[in-house]
Amino acid sequence: MADFSVVGGGIAGLVVARRLAVSGATVRVFEASDRLGGTVARHEVAGIGLDAGAESFAVRGGTVEALLGELGMAGDIVSPAPGPAWLQPVAGEPVPLPATALLGIPSDPRAADVVRVIGAPAAEKAADLDARPVAEVPPTLGALVRERMGAEMLDRLVAPVVHGVHSRHPDDLPVARAHPGLAAAVADAGSLGGAVARLRAAAPPGAAVAGIRGGIHRLVPALSGDLERLGGDILLRSPVADPSSLPGTVVVAAPGMVGAAGPGRRIDLVTLVVEQHELDAAPRGTGLLVADGATVGARALTHATAKWAWLREAAGGRHVLRLSYDQTPVDPASTARTDAEALLGVPLPVVVDSAVVSWVRPAPASAPPSGLAVVGETVAGSGLAGIVAHAERTAAVLLAR
Ligand SMILES: Cc1cc2nc3c(=O)[nH]c(=O)nc-3n(C[C@H](O)[C@H](O)[C@H](O)COP(=O)(O)OP(=O)(O)OC[C@H]3O[C@@H](n4cnc5c(N)ncnc54)[C@H](O)[C@@H]3O)c2cc1C
Repeated sequence: MADFSVVGGGIAGLVVARRLAVSGATVRVFEASDRLGGTVARHEVAGIGLDAGAESFAVRGGTVEALLGELGMAGDIVSPAPGPAWLQPVAGEPVPLPATALLGIPSDPRAADVVRVIGAPAAEKAADLDARPVAEVPPTLGALVRERMGAEMLDRLVAPVVHGVHSRHPDDLPVARAHPGLAAAVADAGSLGGAVARLRAAAPPGAAVAGIRGGIHRLVPALSGDLERLGGDILLRSPVADPSSLPGTVVVAAPGMVGAAGPGRRIDLVTLVVEQHELDAAPRGTGLLVADGATVGARALTHATAKWAWLREAAGGRHVLRLSYDQTPVDPASTARTDAEALLGVPLPVVVDSAVVSWVRPAPASAPPSGLAVVGETVAGSGLAGIVAHAERTAAVLLAR
């Protein structure tokens, strides 16, 4: 009989299962679908192996790097091309995002690169608002930014960045989820801008995210291979309806099982492989976020061959563009091409191939089943860094029992 049963073979389930197995426990993973990895997946477009979901991880905390080191992949960790992401505002030309910001919240609202995005009157208003004494920190990031820097800062700068990172509006994002140290930093610094400056100064230098040469999906076979080497058992096509029927201590790593606080959010990802020499100069750096209300339907565009050197080599002169949508476009490939032309400012007459992948991102857990350990996005928030760290902590707690 297994010591532990893990329901769900996404990254959270695989990380918790592997950590338990490393400590000598017997573990069995039940995965509903016919493949492991969940939202971390691979697909081929124009013969190029690409990430179909997550394509980077936050370096914050160093947890994912440590895991990759244990899996013998430290040498495959790569940094994205340097340079700011860009923003497509509601009106006008795209602009580079302010350099010294956290989730779009600037350390100095009057900085020239902030004024360029939100305009001088809104920047002055933000500085004036943030000069007032700090009272209680509101519960959501949206309320905090609105109160300290005004609605224009929230709508024009912070909301598009938060949507790009968390796929939700800042009004739906608890301050602690946005950054675990933000509330304390605001109280200490006496202003939101001051808090951002402190948190940025405390962060390690270099890019905030990293990738894996060949794609983030390489993490999946690395984790499952190590788990099996350690004696773990993996069952595909094995949906679990009743976790209490499973042997041993049960860990739930399946989003559908934890009482969601709301409906999931659908994201459609359209990947285009194009030929266009004008893109060699990366006219919008590694990509753009799009403000709500802008004329293009895409919410974000990643110029993947400008972002990752390994992919540029693999693409052999072609370019890979990833566009994400909240609402599935009627003709995704053609809409994505039109949107990419508008966002990048270049015509794209040659689309070699395209692919559309639909994902549903779960709402946070409202009522995790009592007595069961839960890991994954519903409890740890979106993003591999937080999910891996939480799964590792959960395994340690279970082993200590
Ligand atoms: C388009 C997109 C891009 C993203 N980009 C990034 C990025 O660049 N960086 C980043 O850090 N994060 C990114 N994310 C978020 C990140 O991919 C997820 O937060 C993370 O992969 C979720 O992992 P998980 O294990 O919690 O859940 P999932 O990946 O959803 O895995 C859950 C698993 O449980 C299985 N399952 C479900 N029900 C059952 C059941 N009843 N029985 C058994 N098994 C079941 C599912 O089949 C699935 O395999 C992105 C997400 C999307 C959608």
